[in-house]
Amino acid sequence: MQSTHDAMNPRIRADVAILGGGTAGAVVAARLVETTSLSVVVVEAGPDYGPFDGGRWPPELLDSATLPDTHDWGYQDAGLSLRRPLPLERARVIGGCSSHNGCSQTVGYGADYHRWGLSWSDAQLTSLMADSAARLRVRRYTDDELTPFQAAAMEAMILSEIPRTDDLDDLHGGVGCGPSPVNNPDGVRWNSAFAFLDPVRSEPRLRVVDHALVDRLELDGPVVRRARLRRGGEQVILEADRFILCGGAYGSPEMLLRSGIGPADDLKALGIAPRLDLPGVGRNLHDHPTVELRFAAGDRLVRQLTDYGRTRAVPDEQVIGKARSGSGSAPYDLHLLPWTSSEPDGWTCVFPVACLTPRSRGALRLVSADPQAKPVIDHRYLTDPEGADLAALRDGVDIYRRLVASPALAPLLGRPLDEFSAGPSTDDAGLRAASAHYWHPVGTCAIGPDPAAGAVVDTTGRVHGSDNLWVVDASVIPVIPRATTNLPVVALAEHLVRVLT
Ligand SMILES: Cc1cc2nc3c(=O)[nH]c(=O)nc-3n(C[C@H](O)[C@H](O)[C@H](O)COP(=O)(O)OP(=O)(O)OC[C@H]3O[C@@H](n4cnc5c(N)ncnc54)[C@H](O)[C@@H]3O)c2cc1C
Repeated sequence: MQSTHDAMNPRIRADVAILGGGTAGAVVAARLVETTSLSVVVVEAGPDYGPFDGGRWPPELLDSATLPDTHDWGYQDAGLSLRRPLPLERARVIGGCSSHNGCSQTVGYGADYHRWGLSWSDAQLTSLMADSAARLRVRRYTDDELTPFQAAAMEAMILSEIPRTDDLDDLHGGVGCGPSPVNNPDGVRWNSAFAFLDPVRSEPRLRVVDHALVDRLELDGPVVRRARLRRGGEQVILEADRFILCGGAYGSPEMLLRSGIGPADDLKALGIAPRLDLPGVGRNLHDHPTVELRFAAGDRLVRQLTDYGRTRAVPDEQVIGKARSGSGSAPYDLHLLPWTSSEPDGWTCVFPVACLTPRSRGALRLVSADPQAKPVIDHRYLTDPEGADLAALRDGVDIYRRLVASPALAPLLGRPLDEFSAGPSTDDAGLRAASAHYWHPVGTCAIGPDPAAGAVVDTTGRVHGSDNLWVVDASVIPVIPRATTNLPVVALAEHLVRVLT
């Protein structure tokens, strides 16, 4: 690999340009280098700290115990449906969100993946998930490692008839709870750059260009000729035979829209010349909505967490429960993911429930052709006309109200931190006020056969109407799976890169 800190040549050429070096981008780059003789450039807006062994990574990105916020893009949800803006954390660094995420690696429910129109069998999917988990060094927290809070939360779930299981990594799993599969060997967040790029970094056909913001692509009919990058004060031209966007659910549609690929009328209104009229770019945005109850830790729990923390880090999250709401589809439609955080004024115990089968859909749209300008992102959380998302979350909150009152948890919790957490109400206004999200945006460049119906890419990830442009990341997922999304994105990237090569 050439150093990313060379004096930048304002013109770069490679066989393949990968735009975005996150979870998916690292997979695609590594596999192309490993399985072809092509030269590959990865362009990443944030820093590349090099291989894990190089020792240059900031400690907070390595420490899997808590979620860092040092490399955040600064996106916000407009919050129109919730009447308050919500931060939408996204990492701007090599490895992308895998470099700052919670490290829970679940696979979800197998049938969800067969709704995407991809030609993968159950057996292929199972093997892709297992191989991806192995590459990410996924293991499972042992009972001995559970913090006193996590052990009590799991016990409360079991008392509430959510049985102990070990099937969070099984595509055929059902309702149950257990310690999470996690990609943190020795407590290190094993991001996709370590897992995929490190083994090929010495290969001269791979180059990582960091601190480089992709402004737009320039097309000649259906062919992308070049990408324009901004690096420092400089404009850089990147020429390639193939361009693969891996900018994530917000970054990839932004790059397409700035390039004139999207809803033609919206683009014209911004002064961007339309190149490919694809109405679906930026639409179909969805995530798992959550609602959370919050309590101060009680004195006994504070003592227990302090004792636990004397010898090791206290992970925020370790246990996940899968449950089913009253009207939810089988086998489960809720995740319970209790976590603790250490605030300056004491420990907080948070009980979020996520709706895994959301029906609400939102959109991302540009306000300007300027790549520095933030888009308007409106997830329209909890707006589906049937009220199904709210109903599922209401049932999840009812489950939590039983858990926090159970003999396993009640003696450990202090005062509720807001009126909704104090209960007993679960009215719509309270649910909206206590709602957040699970950091799993998908869908803005959805796979599908028909561009007029909102599809942006075909089942190979190729952008409809283009000859040499693909999107491979969470944005192409047309319907979110019942899983934390990192492992599914790795498996999807593995599948699409095989189709590509
Ligand atoms: C706080 C947080 C916690 C999470 N916890 C979990 C968890 O515990 N388990 C789980 O499975 N999932 C979790 N996720 C979700 C998971 O990490 C993501 O689904 C996954 O990383 C998405 O991968 P991606 O490749 O689509 O995008 P990303 O990993 O976001 O990669 C996109 C990359 O493209 C770069 N980029 C974007 N635009 C441009 C541009 N214009 N120019 C150059 N570069 C650009 C970005 O900087 C980034 O590096 C979490 C996410 C967050 C934010």
